[in-house]
This record gives sequence, C-alpha cells and structure tokens, in this order.
Amino acid sequence: MQVSSTSVGENLKAVKEKISTCCSQHNLAPPNLVAVSKFQPVETILEAYQAGQRMFGENYVQEIVSKAPSLPEDIQWHFIGMLQSNKAKQLVSGVKNLEVVESVHSAKTATALNNACMSAERRSPLKIYIQVLTSGEESKSGCLPEEVIEIAQHVKSHCPALELKGLMTIGKLGDPNPEPYFALLRECRKKLAESLQMEETDLHLSMGMSGDFEKAIAAGSTSVRVGTSIFGERPPKQ
Ligand SMILES: *Cc1c(COP(=O)(O)O)cnc(C)c1O
Repeated sequence: MQVSSTSVGENLKAVKEKISTCCSQHNLAPPNLVAVSKFQPVETILEAYQAGQRMFGENYVQEIVSKAPSLPEDIQWHFIGMLQSNKAKQLVSGVKNLEVVESVHSAKTATALNNACMSAERRSPLKIYIQVLTSGEESKSGCLPEEVIEIAQHVKSHCPALELKGLMTIGKLGDPNPEPYFALLRECRKKLAESLQMEETDLHLSMGMSGDFEKAIAAGSTSVRVGTSIFGERPPKQ
C-alpha cells in the first residue's frame, strides 16, 4: 500500500475521517482503532500518541517488551502476532499495560497466558480474542472456525485470569474481496454467543487492516488494526 510522506498525525487524522465517514454511511458506532506499530521506532509511536492515539498493536514479543516500557503508561497495548506458549510469561511480565492479546489460537496458548497472569499478579484480567483462520490457508495462524467454542469453553472454565472479549481474523492478504472471511468471523461470533449465552455485541470482531478496513467496518468490525495507512511503509525488521 502506497502512502504519501505526510506526517503520522495527518495520516492518523485521514484514517479517522475515513472511519467516521464509513460509520455514518452505514449508521454504525465507530470501531476501536488499533494503530499497528510493528517495526516502528519509539519516536514514531510517540507522534501518533501525541496526536491522541492510545491503542497500539505489536506482533513480536521481543519488540513489544523492549519498546513498551519507554512509552507512556496509558497506552493500551494489543498483542496481535503469533504467540508461542513459551513466550507468554515474557509478554505478560514485560508489558504492564498489556490490554488485549488478540491472537489466542489454542487452549495451550490460553493456559500459558493465564499462568503468566497469575504469576505476574496483574490487577485486572487480561482480555483475549480468539484468532480464527477464515481463509482456509494452511500456512496462516489462527484456529479453525469449528475449534472456537472449545477454546472459549476452556478459557471460561480454566483461565480465571483471562477475559474472553472477542474474535480476530486476518482473512486472506491481498484478496480484493474479503467479505467471505468477514462473514465467517461474524458467523463464528453468533455461534459462540449462543453457546456461552452472551450477547453478540459483548464480543468484539477484530477485522480490517489498511487495505480493507472500510469494507470490514461495513461488515460489522468493531476493532480495526491499521499500520501502513498511519505510519507509512514499514522499515525493515531490525
Ligand atoms: C501488520 C498487521 C496489521 C496491519 O497491517 P497494515 O496492512 O499495515 O495495516 C494488522 N493485523 C495484523 C495481524 C498484522 O500482522
């Protein structure tokens, strides 16, 4: 995605305007905007912070634990990357203001996070989303749609330090027609809400990135994860 070399603050404003236009067209409440800051230096993240942004998303444990402590404490960090169970402890203890882990894809990961929260003595439960593979691509992370309820039941009954707050999907990168993946995630939420006897609206749908966040909002997204459109092209991984 090509983004002109305007400032982070201006890019952020432009993204927010697109979101609000889209919401008024479809008569929807505005979704959360998670600014995806992977590979971005602390100074660049601060520019977005100074422009009012508070939710940020990161993909790599090593990277978030090194950046988060030097950034303001009122940032709400979302971890959105592939999480290996053996890194859960490092993530939870290294990021005091970790708000959500969006990429829980198995009961094993949930257990590891729960144990990490117990030993870190967090003040509040850690929110989690279950990441769902909606594209059927084998190489992508996320659980299968038919595994969602089982993982959710596991969280509810065995992970008191976690709070299940939603579902996340990437869909299929580069597919110009993401609607089927968004529809599948909506369907997963519907079944999950029935199974847990919850309101659907109490579960977030995290879907939509720079290339498709407006389509995602129209399809019911309540949390979009936008990197390139805010920060420009990512610098190479250090
Ligand atoms: C990198 C990333 C994003 C942001 O992608 P952009 O196309 O730069 O907006 C969103 N979600 C996940 C899971 C990512 O890894």
